[in-house]
Amino acid sequence: MKIEEILNQVETLWQALEQTWDRATLENLHQKTHQLYREAGIAGKTRLSRLSRNLAIYLYQLIEKDIPQEAPLEQKVEINKQLFILKELVYPVVTAKPVLHHAPVVQVKAGPELDLPKPDGAEFTESNRLIVLIDSNKQEAEAVASNIGHFGYKVEVFPGPDGVIEFIENNRPGTIIIGTEVEKVDPVLFQNLNEKFSKKIPLIFLSNKGDGFSRLQAVKAGGDAYFIKPVDIRELIDKLDSLSTHSLPQAYRILIVDDSATAVTFHSIILQMAGMVTRVATDPEQLMQQLVEFAPDLILMDMYMPTGTGLELAAVIRQQPGYVSVPIVFLSGETNLQKQFQALQLGGDDFLTKPILGDHLVSVVTARVQRSRILRSYIERDSLTGLYNHTRIKEQLELEIIGSRRKNNNLVFAMLDIDYFKKVNDTYGHHIGDRVIKNLSRFLLNKLRRTDFIGRYGGEEFAIILPDISEENGFLVMNRIRDDFARFPHYILDTEFYTTFSCGLASFPLYGEANSLSRAADRALYEAKRTGRNRVMLAGPPVNERIVSPATPVKR
Ligand code: GH3
Ligand code: MG
Ligand code: MG
Repeated sequence: MKIEEILNQVETLWQALEQTWDRATLENLHQKTHQLYREAGIAGKTRLSRLSRNLAIYLYQLIEKDIPQEAPLEQKVEINKQLFILKELVYPVVTAKPVLHHAPVVQVKAGPELDLPKPDGAEFTESNRLIVLIDSNKQEAEAVASNIGHFGYKVEVFPGPDGVIEFIENNRPGTIIIGTEVEKVDPVLFQNLNEKFSKKIPLIFLSNKGDGFSRLQAVKAGGDAYFIKPVDIRELIDKLDSLSTHSLPQAYRILIVDDSATAVTFHSIILQMAGMVTRVATDPEQLMQQLVEFAPDLILMDMYMPTGTGLELAAVIRQQPGYVSVPIVFLSGETNLQKQFQALQLGGDDFLTKPILGDHLVSVVTARVQRSRILRSYIERDSLTGLYNHTRIKEQLELEIIGSRRKNNNLVFAMLDIDYFKKVNDTYGHHIGDRVIKNLSRFLLNKLRRTDFIGRYGGEEFAIILPDISEENGFLVMNRIRDDFARFPHYILDTEFYTTFSCGLASFPLYGEANSLSRAADRALYEAKRTGRNRVMLAGPPVNERIVSPATPVKR
């Protein structure tokens, strides 16, 4: 049978099941999805096959759980979402792609694949250190290339557009730098290119002109950064580091407050396709719980619900000191301007009228979250690394423990401290010491899951929260990172050097409170230091305490 036909049957079954939930239909649906998985595999459509398999597993788990009558909203949303993705694969719809190519969230998640649950453990991706530099001035180009080269980047220089596109297509550089004045660059050149790749390649302009018009031209041509010549190499390196690293800020967390399953499904899918994480609350009780546990970046609020109006709920949220600034966007069929105005007066940030177009929803939500994150970052981020600061990571630990307790999940808390860091400062200077701290922070961002939380605890100390992970896996992940970091070169002019870190781990629920957890991790870190450094140590009863990673030989 053709794949399209099977998918049609899957859809028909799902529609029947959504109407009336019964076990027999669910089992049929599972069978069909399984068939889709096999057929897609035979046809060599590996992605479709894999995603169908995920759905089949999900359905199988539902059968196992034996939900008697109505499946809860959450499951329906999940199935809808997965089906939506399958349909996208079989019948690609151009308009369903997110439009905001510059929104950071979109860059992370160009395909729908990342919507699916990640495997336990971390993703191990290296940042891309290949740079394409286009500059007609040979001397300048060589100077820049050699400077960047000292920081571990490999630079390919082109005097003009000839051969550039071909090279980029074949080699996929991490960043493109254009040293030629922007008005000489054909704007279409890179637009076409980016359509071919799922992820936009960052573009940096180096220019002699600092006027607004030239800057605007650069933005229009797709520029992500703009430097005026002569370029400060340190600043350029910082920019390259942040642009070429794979990991981007945590996904936007959107709480949808709505009692209609259709609306929830629709809005969840749109936001998730744009790389955001969504949760649903259908009544005030759930809303309060999600506010604490999920800590949304933004609340998308329906105006009319059986339990109360959106305005009332907004007022309740605003009365609590911790939630005065979380953006609330109202969503309603209400076209009465007076009512809309009232909603905004009562603490809403925006008012969107249903039915709303997907692109519009994504752009409004993105803009709101971006602004509020910038404002929040001033109070909760560390200025050197951009990671959470001490206060914030401790707060997050409290929140994650509440969540883990409720969901009966394991959680691992890690404390890291760079080994012999004083020596780095003494040998190479404080500035290079700072760079090592930044390198480690980027390294952690790259290697950990987007659901993990990383904070700079102070000086050369970091704290990490790994939610929903077993003690053993937490240990393996951190040990792997330790091992990788020990091999990661730090560059300074013509030499490279290496540093290591020690790490102490403690897990919840073995340690049941934030305080005992961080004290235990701190003690384990001390033990790791005392017993030789460059190792990971797990706090706990004697058996666990012996899980110590082997030290890697370090090049100095
Ligand atoms: P150990 O292996 O025992 O951790 O040795 P260590 O030298 O890393 O530890 P110690 O705590 O004695 O020294 C930490 C040094 O880190 C001291 C301080 O000058 C330096 N430091 C703290 N914060 C910063 C910073 O933000 N930038 C730089 N460059 N150095 C920092
Ligand atoms: Mg220290
Ligand atoms: Mg140290």
